[in-house]
Amino acid sequence: MSWVDGANESGFGTDHLPYGLISTDGGTRRLAVRIGGFALDLAATASAGLVPSVVAHPSLKPLMAAGPAMWSEVRQIVQDLLTDERHQSTVLPLLHDVDAVDVHLPFEVADYVDFYSSEQHATNLGRMFRPDSEPLLPNWKHLPVGYHGRAGTVVVSGTPVHRPSGQRRGQDGPTFGPSERLDIELEMGFVVGVSSEIGSPVALAEAADHIFGFGLVNDWSARDIQAWEYVPLGPFLGKSFATSLAGWVTPLAALDPFRIPQPPQDPEPLPYLRGTDPWGFDIDLEVLLSSRTMREVGLEPVRISATNFGQMYWTPAQQLAHLTVNGASTRTGDLCASGTISGSEPGTYGSFIELTHNGADPLTLPTGETRTFLEDGDEVTLQGRARSAGSFIEMAPVSGQVVG
Ligand code: CA
Repeated sequence: MSWVDGANESGFGTDHLPYGLISTDGGTRRLAVRIGGFALDLAATASAGLVPSVVAHPSLKPLMAAGPAMWSEVRQIVQDLLTDERHQSTVLPLLHDVDAVDVHLPFEVADYVDFYSSEQHATNLGRMFRPDSEPLLPNWKHLPVGYHGRAGTVVVSGTPVHRPSGQRRGQDGPTFGPSERLDIELEMGFVVGVSSEIGSPVALAEAADHIFGFGLVNDWSARDIQAWEYVPLGPFLGKSFATSLAGWVTPLAALDPFRIPQPPQDPEPLPYLRGTDPWGFDIDLEVLLSSRTMREVGLEPVRISATNFGQMYWTPAQQLAHLTVNGASTRTGDLCASGTISGSEPGTYGSFIELTHNGADPLTLPTGETRTFLEDGDEVTLQGRARSAGSFIEMAPVSGQVVG
C-alpha cells in the first residue's frame, strides 16, 4: 500500500506505476512515474541518489533499452520508495500534481507497425466490403496481418488531430477535399524495449525479454481516402496523418496478473507462431465521445462502445515473432499496435465504420445530434481497466479532438 494520498484505489497504485515524460512551466522534460494523482519526477529522484541514473534522461528510451533486469530493479526501488513511510519526507517534494504537468510523447517512436489481429473486427469489415465471399481472407488465420505505418506522426494523447484532406472516389473520377469519413480505431500498442539484430528473429518464447510495456492507441483513419487508395498496396495517406498514443506506458510487469490464454487457434499456426505462455490480456476497454455541443451544455462524454482486449486472435508475442521472422531487426521504441479491437456484438465495436454499419445507422448523442463519422470539435477518449480480485489498474487514456 502506498503512503501517497489517494493512490491505492486510483488504478495508479504501486502495482501499476506507468512511465511518462513530463515538464512543468515549459521547463526541461523529465521521466516520471505516475502514482495516484501525482507524477514522481524520476530525474530528481535519481539526482537524490535514490534510483539508478538510467531514468535521469529526458526520454524513456535508455530505461527501455536497458532490459528486463533493470526494468525490474527500477520498479522494485520505486515501489519501495512509494510504500515505505520512511521515504515519505524525502520523496513527497518530488511529486507533482499530474493535472499541473505537461505530458509529452514518452519516447521517440522508432518504427510503427499496425496489425489487424481481432478476428471479430476483420470479420465485421470483411462482411461489409466483401458480402459475397468468405469474410476472412485465406492468409488471415495463418499470420498476423499488418502494415508499416508512419512513426513520425505518432502523437501523444491530447494533441489535436487535423482533419486530413485527400483524394476520394467520386462519380466521375476522384475528388479532392477534407475527409468526410473520419474514423477512430480502438487499439492497444506494445513498445519494444530491447532491440534485436538484423538476421536474428525474436522467437515467441523470448518476447518478454523485448517487450517493455503497453499503451492505448487511436489509429485515426480517413475511410474515404483509405477506400480509394488502398488497393493494391494497403493503407497509406488514409492512416498516416495522425496516430495517438497514451502519455503513460504501462510496464509489462504491471499487466502480468491479467494475462490469460488467447482464444483457441484453428488451424494451428506454423511452428514459429506456437507457444504455451499466456499472452492474452484481460483488459476492459471503452470508447467515449464528446461533441462540441455536448461540452457547451455541460454534458459528460458518452460511452459508444465497450469491449475487451482478451479476445484478440493474435498476441503481441506472435506479432513480434512474425514481424522479425524474415530477419528484420527491431529498435528500442518500435511501436506495434494491435489492430482495431472489436467484439462480435453491436456496442462492442472499436470503430465508427462498424458502429454505424458503414454510415447506414447513425449514432444518436444525448444532445440529439447524430454521428456516422467524426465532426470537427468531436473529442474521442479511449480508456481501459484491468481488474483482479482485490484491485484494478487503469490504463492511461488516449484522447484527441478533431479540428478542421
Ligand atoms: Ca489500425
